[in-house]
Amino acid sequence: MEINRKMKRAVKVGPLTIGGGFPIVVQSMAAVKTSKVDDVLRQIKEAIPYGLELMRVSVLDMEDAEALRELTAQSPVPIVADIHFDYRLALLAADSGVAAIRINPGNIGSEDRVKAVVEACQTRRIPIRIGINGGSLFKDHEATPEEMVAAAKEHVAILERNSFYDIVISLKSSSPLTTIEANRLADQVFPYPLHLGATEAGPKDVSLIRSAAVLSPLLLDGIGDTIRLSMSEPPLEEVKAGHRLLRDLGLEERWPFFVSCPTCGRTMVDLMPLARKVQAYLEERRLNIKVAVMGCIVNGPGEARDADIGLAGGHGVYALFKKGKIIKTVNEKDAYDVLIAEIEKDL
Ligand code: SF4
Repeated sequence: MEINRKMKRAVKVGPLTIGGGFPIVVQSMAAVKTSKVDDVLRQIKEAIPYGLELMRVSVLDMEDAEALRELTAQSPVPIVADIHFDYRLALLAADSGVAAIRINPGNIGSEDRVKAVVEACQTRRIPIRIGINGGSLFKDHEATPEEMVAAAKEHVAILERNSFYDIVISLKSSSPLTTIEANRLADQVFPYPLHLGATEAGPKDVSLIRSAAVLSPLLLDGIGDTIRLSMSEPPLEEVKAGHRLLRDLGLEERWPFFVSCPTCGRTMVDLMPLARKVQAYLEERRLNIKVAVMGCIVNGPGEARDADIGLAGGHGVYALFKKGKIIKTVNEKDAYDVLIAEIEKDL
């Protein structure tokens, strides 16, 4: 199955391009206050090996805005400043080396303030992300998809009136179905790239399901140019989950396809710790190979015959197989090292 990506305006975000058919950018958001620059940098550096490409940080006050200069100077990935309402924070952010700003121009205030922000962004070629949250549009009800798109149109119109077109749009609702529908509508209406995510996605186990439920139908339709799988976890977990999802949909090449069996009464090895260790090895290195760790020799190699390489458990031993063919048998305690050595031979 081939996914035909929608061709949206290519928007430069620092060294990255969002839209224009470029690969989908995986982003995250720092889970600490921006003024704590060292903590933000630690979260960025932890997530980079797993493919963090863009980090958003919230700018709540002057203290945060003033920290941006140091943060952008030291961060290996471009920084997006997330600002609500206060145009002075946006001006300071634009002047501090950020690669993009998230602000809704309709919330900035007077036309003069909007112009000041637009000019600051235009001069530095900084795009603006408009973010519509269905929960905060109205006091009495969660916005419908049509209402969310209408709100986005108003913000977009303000920027377009000021001849500003480097726009990225996100539409999120706490209802997964509303988020899907809002993005489908937005895809038809706007020529600008879309940032996909599920808001208030919850703790990891809930978020993984919810985010996949929201993002997959859109991504399969070619909708979405950048994603964040938000969850109540540090950024590196969001980044891993983002790449796993893209890999499963065939939209990501630098990521392993890892399988392990659920285990059953036939399993006679301690499979789960081994499976987790192999997965961690592959993901840390972002190796684009298919690897299987299976519980038994009867079904393992056959069920995982698509795998480039894998292990299948026996009585205290594992069989090492390549493309479904067993090549040797090793003690359970040596299985990890033997598998990794075999993988590294072919790198
Ligand atoms: S591969 Fe073997 S051990 Fe694993 S679930 Fe299938 S039958 Fe059970």
